[in-house]
Amino acid sequence: MIPADHLLSRTLSDWQTRSDLPSAEAADVYRRFHRNGSHPAVCPDGRVVAAVQTEDATRKFLLTHEDGLQTESVIMPIEGRSGRIRHTLCLSSQIGCAMGCTFCQTATMGRVRQLTTAEIIAQWHHARHHLDAQVSNIVFMGMGEPMDNLDAVLPAIEILTDHNAAAIPASRIGVSTVGHAEGIGRFTQFMQRDGMHQIRLAVSINAGDEPTRRTLMPITRAVSMRAVRGAMQGWIDAGGRPILLEYVLIPGVNDGPDAASLLAAWIAGLPCRVNVIPYNPKVDSPWPAPTDHNVDAFIDAVARTGLPVNRRRTIGRSVMAACGQLGTA
Ligand code: SF4
Repeated sequence: MIPADHLLSRTLSDWQTRSDLPSAEAADVYRRFHRNGSHPAVCPDGRVVAAVQTEDATRKFLLTHEDGLQTESVIMPIEGRSGRIRHTLCLSSQIGCAMGCTFCQTATMGRVRQLTTAEIIAQWHHARHHLDAQVSNIVFMGMGEPMDNLDAVLPAIEILTDHNAAAIPASRIGVSTVGHAEGIGRFTQFMQRDGMHQIRLAVSINAGDEPTRRTLMPITRAVSMRAVRGAMQGWIDAGGRPILLEYVLIPGVNDGPDAASLLAAWIAGLPCRVNVIPYNPKVDSPWPAPTDHNVDAFIDAVARTGLPVNRRRTIGRSVMAACGQLGTA
């Protein structure tokens, strides 16, 4: 029997190279395992999934890996123009996270360990085949900083885009970072490979000035906003798509009268879109969620600077599945 991880951690061509099976048979096993969820020649994936369904049909699920540690992933429904429901899957790249963002539940865990490529792909596999989600989009915005684990994340993206496996176009895959400048540089090189040009980069910025950002994101002490901007410029210069600038709006912290103009001054000249994420309070949060009035006022202020801006819909808050709330288990 073939261990499931052998197929979860490899593209088809890699699997064919390493397999003892004749090439055509290896390809058949690979395709059927990924497309049907199982194959008689492959050991069933022993990971156990537990799912929580929320009122708005967002599902957060826990996946227990071989060592008993769990990842959290979120399936978010999106209704297309035709009315058909498809799903965006938010993947975790680490168990816990070392980045220590003060607004984030996952940060309270610290970094427990890196996920392997197989453990990342297993999240897709279980969402697709055990929870029957028609996954059309992937975002690396779950637990962990993906740029801190690119050795596993980049091969995972190759498998997700492999038309013999998950077959998700690169244009529908996004990776979000705290502004890991070195990682953005490596991701920029990856983006220039055949078939990867349309992949998306999101940077969680959360402030237009360094003092405010430092209080929210300790990485700012090691990687200045200037360095982050330089890495983003490198992405654009290399032909990358406009960058999504994520801004978790926390009342009284980063929604002051100058906040939007500071952000606009910092990013001036770089193609981007600002995505305002109303803060989802973590457990024992010192801050409340912003009111709709807070959010609308900030969005108006950003729009007045000329930056494209939109608001991220808040979903899954009731089961701690919203942005920044993973890691409660
Ligand atoms: S926001 Fe992301 S990078 Fe920051 S601590 Fe949370 S999981 Fe880590």
